[in-house]
Amino acid sequence: MGEDIVKDSRIEFPSYSIGRLYVYERKSYRPPHIRVNDTDAELERYEKVRRDAVDSLSVAYERTNERAGAQNAEIFKAQIMILKDEEYNARVIKNILNDGKNAEWAVSEASRYFYELFNSIDDENVRAKAMDIKDVTNKLIRLLTGTDNALDIREPVILASAYLSPSELIQIKREMLKGIVMLEGSQYSHVVILAKTLGIPVVLGVYMPDSLTGHEAVIDGVNGQVFVDPDTELKEKYERLIDEEARENSLLKKYIGVDTVTSYGKKVSLLANIAGIDDVRYAVECDSEGIGLTRTEFMFLDRNTLPLEKEHFEAYRDIVLASGGRNVTFRTLDLGADKSSAPLHLKAEENPALGRRAIRICLDRKDVFLSQIKGILRAAAFGDVSILYPMITSADEVVKIGGIMKEAVNELDAEGVAYGTVKQGIMIETPAAVFISDILAKMVDFFSIGTNDLTQYTLAVDRQNREVAKYYDPMHEAVMRMIRMTVENAHKAGITVTVCGELASDLSATKRLIDMGVDALSVSPGDLLKIRKAICEL
Ligand code: PEP
Ligand code: MG
Repeated sequence: MGEDIVKDSRIEFPSYSIGRLYVYERKSYRPPHIRVNDTDAELERYEKVRRDAVDSLSVAYERTNERAGAQNAEIFKAQIMILKDEEYNARVIKNILNDGKNAEWAVSEASRYFYELFNSIDDENVRAKAMDIKDVTNKLIRLLTGTDNALDIREPVILASAYLSPSELIQIKREMLKGIVMLEGSQYSHVVILAKTLGIPVVLGVYMPDSLTGHEAVIDGVNGQVFVDPDTELKEKYERLIDEEARENSLLKKYIGVDTVTSYGKKVSLLANIAGIDDVRYAVECDSEGIGLTRTEFMFLDRNTLPLEKEHFEAYRDIVLASGGRNVTFRTLDLGADKSSAPLHLKAEENPALGRRAIRICLDRKDVFLSQIKGILRAAAFGDVSILYPMITSADEVVKIGGIMKEAVNELDAEGVAYGTVKQGIMIETPAAVFISDILAKMVDFFSIGTNDLTQYTLAVDRQNREVAKYYDPMHEAVMRMIRMTVENAHKAGITVTVCGELASDLSATKRLIDMGVDALSVSPGDLLKIRKAICEL
């Protein structure tokens, strides 16, 4: 790999960044203005939303205080005070009870009145209050309405939002994102893993009000901090850190072209997790030995119709061609849980992580599954391809998948379309799959352990929920024993085991995983060289 290509490439994987903030508010706050007859009911509606807003701002205050300090959190206190302000509330209530305005209208009118009042005063502190009123109004209206905004980013920004879904993230061009700040989500949320795959620094647990759009900010993805309007000293400190990190990353370049072998001679395959064609190029640039996990959900996000077989085929063929002869493993769709998809019309569920997700959807929607499998088989005519099935809990599912695979092959034969052979593997990411891994190992060509879900399901900790993040421990002895058991059963049956969850890129786990006999690690492209260095130094 040439020096210049590396210098200009994303191998310089950032943990910090400096840029302009863009605060994305998912809900539209263009409120309907209508007269109501039942003013008491309308008042009740307003009161409920006001209470909800106070609760949510209190949470935002606590979290921001914890993660970004009291000064950054102060804004939420000011907003809560507005929501509790007697004059403000009296005006909203008068608008509803005396004038028969609906709550949205009543809030907008009261807010405009106070906004103009404060904004006309020649005092910076008072004018800042006007911005607080604007933010509070937006919050109330969003809670009252519930319609969505489009995400339209045209220049590189640090994107802040209460929560971003994977499909929202995938809509944005990578070069437009210098960083992400979210109030919700955890390190193991799909959206955060996706951002990591894309090489974008992320800070969680911080809420940014709309009024900060356009302000300069520094984000520190290592310590989980955001600094708005940094002074020169702070900015210089982070510019130095950015340079230092780039230097460290460039030192890793010497591991390009090096075999991934421990000092005692154990060879480990080092593969990349990708979510689209751009990541393959990045993975190749970082000298990945193959693609261990293609999260094919990108085919289903950000669209209203289901992808056709032809679209699957073309997208996967391009990935296979871009991989330059390396093996590419395509995981079949893993939607549901925190990844919704408009064309699949997935119902909201009480317990989505335990619900209709991944292979369960595929086995119900054979049409969707068949067209994806056929697309993958056709792409296999262009290179070395494996197929991986997520969320397996029983041998029966593997038998059913086998039946559908046969149908796919028969259809392609009947259509006279070219296709290739594939190795078939399953994700081991449920305790059930671990405990029957001796049986499953005889049915498939390889295992890939999804430690993100395996940890979630073993420890009964929602990987999305920040409130229980402290219980989420992928190195928990129970998870370690499950990995060991899976590897032993796989090796007895003569098949290989990859670890493709986030644990694979955790340096504190590398030695343990290798000692347990794991054959391959599949990590975000940005982590490849770091892990290769660690393995070579074992
Ligand atoms: C996992 O669960 O570890 C995994 C790799 O899959 P995902 O994170 O996409 O659920
Ligand atoms: Mg998983």
